[in-house]
Amino acid sequence: MARYTGPVCRFCRREGCKLFLKGDRCYTDKCAFARRPAAPGQHGAGRKKASQYGIQLREKQKVKRAYGMLEKQFRSYFALAAKKRGVTGAYMLSLLERRLDNVVYRLGIGDSRAQARQFVMHGHITVNGKKIDIPSYRVSVGEEIAVKERSAGTDRFKQIIEQAGKPIPKWLTFDAENLRGSVVALPEREDIDLTIAENLIVESYSK
Ligand code: SF4
Repeated sequence: MARYTGPVCRFCRREGCKLFLKGDRCYTDKCAFARRPAAPGQHGAGRKKASQYGIQLREKQKVKRAYGMLEKQFRSYFALAAKKRGVTGAYMLSLLERRLDNVVYRLGIGDSRAQARQFVMHGHITVNGKKIDIPSYRVSVGEEIAVKERSAGTDRFKQIIEQAGKPIPKWLTFDAENLRGSVVALPEREDIDLTIAENLIVESYSK
């Protein structure tokens, strides 16, 4: 699956909020958004009032960029959510949260979704004891996500154990000592800490 590999801080500046795409750096004064919050580009600071289409587009871009995906893949999440009964936007976010790369990030094993994704793709992560190297793998209740035994002994992961302490969402549990987490419930809308008006995304796809 294609993915964007260019600079990412400009995304935060464009969306007007921190998307936390660069791990620890996002919490320091090196954060580009903290230093220059205006949108990137020559006319970034002087943009006019956005149209309704523009507002919907920005919400969609915010979610796509936070979860690191391109339009085609993101649209498939919407299509899946739209088939379900209930609130489409909330269900779509729940599906995104259940991606394996996001779960690894939420457990604090990766300090950004990009790093978590790399850990998955490089075969460091197991689900119920079996290596899974597909970042979009969707976790279910009862599944156990862990760092592969051989990888857990490396300096990189030892450092993660030492630095563990990130708050874990209530739908997950984490044993930092053994780098092992479990899915104890499906994520609800209130478990997702991104400030998003997902109804605007649903509107933009429903035209
Ligand atoms: Fe966004 Fe993090 Fe870059 Fe700050 S450091 S602009 S929060 S990606």
